Amino acid sequence: MKPLKTPLVALFCLIFLLMPLPPSFAQLPPAPVTSAVDFDFRQFGPHSPDFVSPWTTFGYDIGDFHTNYANFERVVRDYAAKSDRLRVFERGRTSEHRTLYTLVVSAPKNIARLDAIKANAAKLADPRQLSDAAAESLTQDLPIIVWLAYSIHGNESAGFEAMIQVLYDLVASQNPMIRDLLDQVVVVINPCQNPDGHERFVTWYNAVGIGRPEPFAIEHREPWSIYGRLNHYLFDLNRDLLVASQVESQSAMQAFLEWHPQVCADHHGQTVNYFFPPAALPINPNLDRGQSDKWLDIFGRGNAAAFDRYGWQYYVRDVFDLFYPGYWDSWSSLNGATGMTYETDGGGWKGLNWRRDDETILTLRDGIARHVTASFATLQTAAANRVARLRDYRAFFVQSIAEGKQGPLQCVVFPPEGDPTRRKRLVQTLLYHGVEVQTATAAFTLKAVHDYAGRVQPTRDFPPGTLIVSLDQPRGRLAKSLLEPDTKQDRAFIERQLEKVRRNANRGANAPKEETEFYDITAWSLPLALDVPAYWSGSRPAVSATPVASVVVSPPQSPAPAKTAYVFAYDSDAAAKLALQLLQEGYRLATAVRPLRAGERTYPRGSFVLRVERNPETLHTRLAALAAACGVEVQAVNSAYTDTGITGVGSEGIYTLRPPRVAVIAQEGVSQTSYGALWFMLANDIGMEFTPITVDTFLDLRLGEFNVLILPDGSPGAYRRAFGKEGLERLKLWCQEGGTLICLGGAAAFASHKETDLTSARLIDADDEAGKDGQTASAGEKTPDKKTSDTGSTDEPTGAAARYGEPSRKKSSPKDEKKSAEVGSGAEQAPTDTALSAAPLPLPGAIFRAVVNREHFLTFSHEQAEMPVLLSQRFFRPSKTGTNVLTIENPIPLAGFIWKGNTERFVRNTAPVIEEQLGAGHVILFADDPHYRAIWQAQRRIFLNGLIFGPTITFSTGLR
Ligand SMILES: [Zn+2]
Repeated sequence: MKPLKTPLVALFCLIFLLMPLPPSFAQLPPAPVTSAVDFDFRQFGPHSPDFVSPWTTFGYDIGDFHTNYANFERVVRDYAAKSDRLRVFERGRTSEHRTLYTLVVSAPKNIARLDAIKANAAKLADPRQLSDAAAESLTQDLPIIVWLAYSIHGNESAGFEAMIQVLYDLVASQNPMIRDLLDQVVVVINPCQNPDGHERFVTWYNAVGIGRPEPFAIEHREPWSIYGRLNHYLFDLNRDLLVASQVESQSAMQAFLEWHPQVCADHHGQTVNYFFPPAALPINPNLDRGQSDKWLDIFGRGNAAAFDRYGWQYYVRDVFDLFYPGYWDSWSSLNGATGMTYETDGGGWKGLNWRRDDETILTLRDGIARHVTASFATLQTAAANRVARLRDYRAFFVQSIAEGKQGPLQCVVFPPEGDPTRRKRLVQTLLYHGVEVQTATAAFTLKAVHDYAGRVQPTRDFPPGTLIVSLDQPRGRLAKSLLEPDTKQDRAFIERQLEKVRRNANRGANAPKEETEFYDITAWSLPLALDVPAYWSGSRPAVSATPVASVVVSPPQSPAPAKTAYVFAYDSDAAAKLALQLLQEGYRLATAVRPLRAGERTYPRGSFVLRVERNPETLHTRLAALAAACGVEVQAVNSAYTDTGITGVGSEGIYTLRPPRVAVIAQEGVSQTSYGALWFMLANDIGMEFTPITVDTFLDLRLGEFNVLILPDGSPGAYRRAFGKEGLERLKLWCQEGGTLICLGGAAAFASHKETDLTSARLIDADDEAGKDGQTASAGEKTPDKKTSDTGSTDEPTGAAARYGEPSRKKSSPKDEKKSAEVGSGAEQAPTDTALSAAPLPLPGAIFRAVVNREHFLTFSHEQAEMPVLLSQRFFRPSKTGTNVLTIENPIPLAGFIWKGNTERFVRNTAPVIEEQLGAGHVILFADDPHYRAIWQAQRRIFLNGLIFGPTITFSTGLR
């Protein structure tokens, strides 16, 4: 507030203050109150004086300050040195070199026999090893194993603080209740699932937070570059279990499979009130509903009793479902545990204090108190039901094996075809999940064989070397959930969404709409996501096979020194990687825009040529080393003469490639997960350098500084504002002079907007999205905690306004429906009058078949006619002036939910990938993020082709 400047103003103020209050003032809410101040964190005393309370060590009381990771490690080291109840296991380092821990706490007698406990739990999880009688005897003796995990989203800070208190109580308490508990339970703690994100958040919050409760205070608005929810590479780790791309996921999954827990509670935090299961619909149909519902109810009632003692608010069966297998709750459930998400209210982005809508104050301490209470209630419920839960744990695996021997899908096989890089990736992923994979040592035949494009053959022969995943294995249910082409949602859930959309259709155009409840993608089948040739069948192969223990691949033979040129085929992600690394190191790499004949072999279009006479002498040695590291076979060619055809290494159709100099926009308005997935792919998978910059910086640079500019998924409106009118002109000039602009998701919507006009392609319903801030893109919504359809980047709060309030968990409702809408899942639903609605309804991630335009450089290395593509909310009318690189001709999805009658009508003849020639440059549009969560890789090489060929190949180059 500014100081009062004149006595006159002061006089008015005095008069105002002396006036009687109008009646409405008296109706203001009472003074703020806090809700859980009297929670006793010493409830499990007395504590042994051998263990100093962490809060004494830290110098602040619980919930008064955010604890950094190093301080937590001090406490762990101290306790581990003194305690006979605690064992600490280091299981690796994060990308920022922080140690990942597994903490195991139990009674000393259990700690002394941990190896035996682990071995016995493993036997329960593999009924092939154990008779029923032996199993029953084991369940009588074995402690129950409970996995408690905290703060996978690093900015959900109450979890981490609660974990420290839980650890202290478990290690130091002399209370008989805790002693009894530890006799019966082995507590396996994943103390901080995302240390890098946690540290970004707490360092920032501790620096700027002053405890203000107003939702608009800066301490409740995490900057773009902090966003501690995500890990170092900006991955949401509670989505990552599907492909285990991140080291945090890999190491935690490995530990989970090693300890075989029967209960898993994953502590999050950003709901209005506390949530614990029973979970919401939909539930993954590979789970046994009778079993999972029973145990979720038992644990839910245990938590409820503990919370009701304090009169606390909480909710169940809403919002947090159990469908997508890449969450900890559903993944642990598919591993036989009772998997649960716990969401606390205080802390996190609400900081130390938060003013609720009823003017009461919610504190970090409140959030911690509830998590501590839920953790202990879970342990008590587990102890009280130990034997019954262990029995049902074994039953899960018995049933899993039995189910694998019946039903329409009993095995999935992968013949040695396609890109070996992706095949290897798929096998590695299955091994991370503990799924048993075998290699056939002989040829075999399967009956009733389905491919992943929906075609069926009566029989099909498979060669030796075919990989087999047979579902009659302990993790058969998990394997099925990862590999089945499509996973159906509960009918009741679908019906509810239909009703919502119907009601919305009857509301006025500007009236508020109900949100649908899809909380994540509805299709993820790994063979489709990775575009790996695969087949499934209702029978299992009778063939000798050996288990696959790892995916070690022997490097290819080094090429002999060449006189004329070295050539390598472009047919894999590894070849793209090698090409980019050679370009990056300054070698003169050329490409054949037509099929190439060299050294008596034929190579597909896009294959690479290194001419000996035009490269330095280091070429041979360096190429051999890089090719071995990438796993690419390179041939030496000793003559430029071609025995057949017109294209040899010295032909006109061979173009020297310009090295890409890549910039990526990274700033407010850009989806962090889209940026992160791109970063991770380039840095980790390809070894490609790039420079993250802001739009302002790009516009200030000389035009030739970069020749590739990538705009990750993000808010179309934010991109429009960032470039502005003049910036847009400069961007066009940059393209015309040879720049390759690659636009993903919301950035493609920005490029196609009529005022941007970087392409003649237009979004269907274009003015609704690209013209606005993009409610469907990252602007304006607080992060959904557990799940969201972030195929289109709704998963980060890069906007501001909505962050002032409680989190909005869902993306916006479908807009502008003129007629009643009927929806359906796949082909089950009859078409209805949804067909008359004027706009496409956004999809929660569904997989379609796209037709590949094989006359364009972006499809080099793709010779198949079709490829799978993941679509969510953007459907582009084809470009009239450019090239439609992928086109949807068949509107029936391969997998996932669609709005029957609406989606098929709008998706038909849209183009998920478009290239527009602009002068000597290119504008390349991807309707959805091609690197989505590192799950989706089918369009990876189309994207990389923009980097490899974009700066060189223009329309006039000609193809074929
Ligand atoms: Zn969370």
